[in-house]
Amino acid sequence: MTLTPLQDLAQSLVNCERCKLAKLGRSQVVFGVGNPHASIMFVGEAPGLNEDQKGEPFVGAAGRILNDLLASAGLSRDHIYIANVIKCRPPNNRDPEQDEVETCKPFLLQQIQLIRPKLVCTLGNWATQTLLERKVGITKVKAQAFYMKDFVLFPLLHPAAALHQGNLLVTLKEDFKKLKEFLDRHSKPVEPTSTTSTPAAPVLNIESPQPAQMDLFS
Ligand code: URA
Repeated sequence: MTLTPLQDLAQSLVNCERCKLAKLGRSQVVFGVGNPHASIMFVGEAPGLNEDQKGEPFVGAAGRILNDLLASAGLSRDHIYIANVIKCRPPNNRDPEQDEVETCKPFLLQQIQLIRPKLVCTLGNWATQTLLERKVGITKVKAQAFYMKDFVLFPLLHPAAALHQGNLLVTLKEDFKKLKEFLDRHSKPVEPTSTTSTPAAPVLNIESPQPAQMDLFS
């Protein structure tokens, strides 16, 4: 059976030993899941315990919050692709270290190149700073669109933040509302194609902004 280039990439990482996380207790590489043709991709930080055991991103408590937030924006996991910046669980869920991010980042970029999403929603500081290539705090840049060369980046708080600080769930809900507004502004109407009740994936039509549009870091 021939593999797609994305499956090929996943396969090439199954026994990855490029960084020290391979020897620090990970049980498997968590490559990513979802629709390989998705126009929207979500990127988290790193697998936690549940993800390490199941081999899929966001299947624990933060994943349940993410599912609810996705639903509030009219999205489901069938519509999107989800991956993390680093593909192996750091011991005791510690923060990723710079060498681990540098080692794994090329594979995230390859995933993005192969899936070709129009919109990439980064969850939390790590994913946002890795793809923006700037050390900027998530609270400064969240819930706004950054027009990158090949996609629009839309940073969001990490859903796990709401597990540690309950009031951040309100902020996350507001920010996913802004994501929905962005999607509504940039989606082409979808023709109903079948009798199933599953909503169709949004078909995004995102134009590049005018050159003078933004300096969001000022
Ligand atoms: N947090 C992440 O950043 N990624 C996961 O897959 C799970 C929790």
